[in-house]
Amino acid sequence: MEKVLVIGCGTYMDSGYGCPGEWRCLKAAALGEGTFGKPAQVVGFLRCECPGRPMISNINMAMKLSEIKPEKIYFSTCLANAKPDCPYNVPEQLAGLIREKTGIEVVMGTHDYH
Ligand code: SF4
Repeated sequence: MEKVLVIGCGTYMDSGYGCPGEWRCLKAAALGEGTFGKPAQVVGFLRCECPGRPMISNINMAMKLSEIKPEKIYFSTCLANAKPDCPYNVPEQLAGLIREKTGIEVVMGTHDYH
């Protein structure tokens, strides 16, 4: 089973009643729904915190402490498709930076649950 790291928008998780990060991404990964396509093993779940600057170092620290390098990194749907847009980052640019710095593929979004 593919090992994945999920990164969510911490601001949305703190303020959204719909999903404060506790089930949608995890359900999609467990059942292989949404962008996962097949069941995946979530080996880490990070929260982006405004303005998102420590994201790369947090990913590196998660890999170091867990001693697991995920095969893919998933941006949660609330991070990848934020509406209104994230005031600090363009998700595609952030994903490109993560790919460049870690060599790990980044998938935009996790699920399409409502
Ligand atoms: S920087 Fe953007 S993606 Fe990150 S927590 Fe803040 S609003 Fe969410």
